[in-house]
Amino acid sequence: MAEQLTVLGTGFAVATKCYTTCFTISDGEEHFMIDTGGGSGVLTNLETLNISYNQVHHIFLSHCHTDHVMGVVWMLRMIGQSMQKGVYEGNLHLYCHKDIADGVLSMCKFMLSPRLLPLFGERIIFHCLADGMTFTINGRKTTFFDTKSHKATQYGVMVDLLNGKTITYLGDEPYNPACEQYAKGVDYLMHEALCLEAEEALYHPHKISHSTVKDAAEWAVALEVPNLILHHTEDRAMATRKARYTAEAKQYYSGNIFVPDDLEIIML
Ligand SMILES: [Zn+2]
Repeated sequence: MAEQLTVLGTGFAVATKCYTTCFTISDGEEHFMIDTGGGSGVLTNLETLNISYNQVHHIFLSHCHTDHVMGVVWMLRMIGQSMQKGVYEGNLHLYCHKDIADGVLSMCKFMLSPRLLPLFGERIIFHCLADGMTFTINGRKTTFFDTKSHKATQYGVMVDLLNGKTITYLGDEPYNPACEQYAKGVDYLMHEALCLEAEEALYHPHKISHSTVKDAAEWAVALEVPNLILHHTEDRAMATRKARYTAEAKQYYSGNIFVPDDLEIIML
């Protein structure tokens, strides 16, 4: 069975030329969603890739920022309606910190049809995370870990793929050595990279707990990972982003470098 990372959004918080942070891990059928991006673009990109929200039964929200969380309101609206029509099978599981669960519930009470609200707790189930919690999601051992962020409580996730490999998503911040057991030697490391090192003065990544491509590449070397996936970038020149970011990462790191565009599928 071919497992894949489906890339739904690769931009930083205020990207307008691509969608914001959203991925799925799947076998092409059932999709585990990692963050939801910042709006209804999640529905657009799922539709473009011919993925139905009925194929999403598990969603992880890393932290409370708009560009990661707001898409979940749209997912809940569509999945809730699908449940009521009798089309959606089983339950939807959401994995996040308790504060995010409370916030998402408040938004849904405020914004969604009251007819959908009885589904919460019945078929829309929140799993409030603590550091190191493990679940089986679509058959894969999935471990959530606290990234010890100073900005906002934040979680990352490590997935043991069915093919024996591992993939870790570090969330929206540079690697924190406190998370070594979840990142060292994994097969695929997903690390944010806001901009090139040469554009540090333009985007100030270090002042906002973000990385340059160089930073991420150096962590990939230190962590001895064979594959580095860069995401959460500025969107100044999308047509050349892949080439520019790959070239900089190559100066520091000799493994495989992925700088995916939205709607790309990375075979794992
Ligand atoms: Zn973000």
